[in-house]
Amino acid sequence: MSYVVENLGMKKLILFVLVYCLFIPLHAQQSLSPKKLIDGIISTIKKFQTDETKADSIARHPLGSNKDADFQRRYKFYDSVNNLLQGISKDSLAFDDEINLTLTQYNLEEEISTYQYKAYLNPILSDEGFHTSIAEMGSEILSTKKEYEDYIIKLKDVPRYMDENLELMRRGLALGISQPRSILYDYANTYEQHIVNDPEKSVFYRPFLRKPFGIDDSDWEKMKTEGKQAVRDSVIEGYKRVKIFFDKEYMPKTRTTVGVSNFPDGLAYYQDRVKHYTTTDISYEEIYQLGLQEVARIKNEMLEVIKEAKFKGTLKQFIAYLRSDPKFYATSAEQLLKEASFIAKKSDGALPSMFGKLPRQPYGVQAVPAYLAPTYTVGRYNGAPIKSKRPGWFWVNTYNFKACPLYNLEALALHESVPGHHLQIALTQELDSLPLFRRNMYVNAYGEGWGLYCEYLGTEMGFYKDPYTHFGRLTYEMWRACRLVLDVAIHTKGWTREQSVKYLSENTALSMHEVNTEINRYISWPGQALAYKTGEMKIKALRKLTEEKLKDKFDIRAFHDLILSQGTVTMPILQKMVERFIEKKLKEEAEKK
Ligand SMILES: [Zn+2]
Repeated sequence: MSYVVENLGMKKLILFVLVYCLFIPLHAQQSLSPKKLIDGIISTIKKFQTDETKADSIARHPLGSNKDADFQRRYKFYDSVNNLLQGISKDSLAFDDEINLTLTQYNLEEEISTYQYKAYLNPILSDEGFHTSIAEMGSEILSTKKEYEDYIIKLKDVPRYMDENLELMRRGLALGISQPRSILYDYANTYEQHIVNDPEKSVFYRPFLRKPFGIDDSDWEKMKTEGKQAVRDSVIEGYKRVKIFFDKEYMPKTRTTVGVSNFPDGLAYYQDRVKHYTTTDISYEEIYQLGLQEVARIKNEMLEVIKEAKFKGTLKQFIAYLRSDPKFYATSAEQLLKEASFIAKKSDGALPSMFGKLPRQPYGVQAVPAYLAPTYTVGRYNGAPIKSKRPGWFWVNTYNFKACPLYNLEALALHESVPGHHLQIALTQELDSLPLFRRNMYVNAYGEGWGLYCEYLGTEMGFYKDPYTHFGRLTYEMWRACRLVLDVAIHTKGWTREQSVKYLSENTALSMHEVNTEINRYISWPGQALAYKTGEMKIKALRKLTEEKLKDKFDIRAFHDLILSQGTVTMPILQKMVERFIEKKLKEEAEKK
């Protein structure tokens, strides 16, 4: 999710859209090809978003304006554009245009839904929020005087940015749209660590710790002083306001219920989340049943592996053994990072056998930053813009070794680095032929489905050679199958936090730390957890279909290149891509004969 900057310029833009699409005489509109109309609307949206950001920086709001009126204005714009797109028939379009249209609508619908269900009044999750996302700017690598000056302007904008978000949360609280108190027991960590006595110890001060080439000494001294002041008077001050708000207002007043069914119009909101995160029209009840089936299937595979490990005992006892035997855990942060790097390098070596096209952007392995680690998940991919001076990062959480057992590390690395998130996201950014919005787009069912599929792909790439890492992979797959059951149960069936923790801990060998942070995440982010398993099952089904149709002409590299060829897409689009591919191949084969 993103709390990113958007703003203003509305009147001009609406005018542009209207002139372009509505007030053009009807006969002229009809003569506009659907392709031109779609391309025009895509550039209108882009222009709107650029103008909003520009308006922000003129008003010295580089962190974006987040007042209620801003959300309303954006909603009106997105809704009007969406109405225009709904008038276009997909049947008449070339496939590339159809993808552009579908994905534009997908993005617009999310903006509209965020406004209609007032999700923007709830800008935090169980382990992050509007105030943690801005802390990443301390990791930016700055080189020029101008970059430093802009950075200082951003630092000075922090108190306003915080105030506006706190105001949104106040409104959310009043309407019953907030996070439950039961998942926020460690949350103070996310802001308290930024309230430091010495501004030079703040992560926001980092860019001033090393003088770049080409900035002269007197300028540098002046900028350092200004930077320090801005961190002390603006950034730390901003985080103090966040703390006061949570202590005095949010925690005492926030809800004690768990599922979003308790929000106004909660069940409709949840079905909307299911649609968004699976990109299909499947009902949440169907997802729940699918989850139960997958859990039962994977459990049988787990029992097989336990036999293979010659373990005398039950599944529960095997999991207890994995959770407690020290041989399964790293003893230092360095060891953990080395193990992860070794796996990632081995995976690099296996890529050419699985892919025809590889990205040029490299990735590195790094510990999750200390300011995030305590409440963070066990690992994550932190990508970089294609022109960035830094690589994509495979983040490993070294805060608590018990949270990151070594038997899970292969599956984790394949998911987060390559062939998982890094490979997919870097390649997408490099698809120059796509409109810009698609190069930076992320559809969860596709991206997370791909990540989970890549964990499976490890079995064909030479990983999971012992029963423990094999069990680790199954644990990871089971974890995502459990999500189908848990997400639906929490948000529509009244399951409690305790009930959910018990279910996940009994079915997987995830560490208890991870079980707890996971459940908190499902509670705070309805529907997102459904994307993984539903997306993976779709990719696997499409692979099976392709293998069956093409038989000995099936080429695994060509199949993977195809799946990655359009960047992130919805599942119905992916289905169509594969069907077209099969048809084309069969035709080529027939012509050869
Ligand atoms: Zn992922």
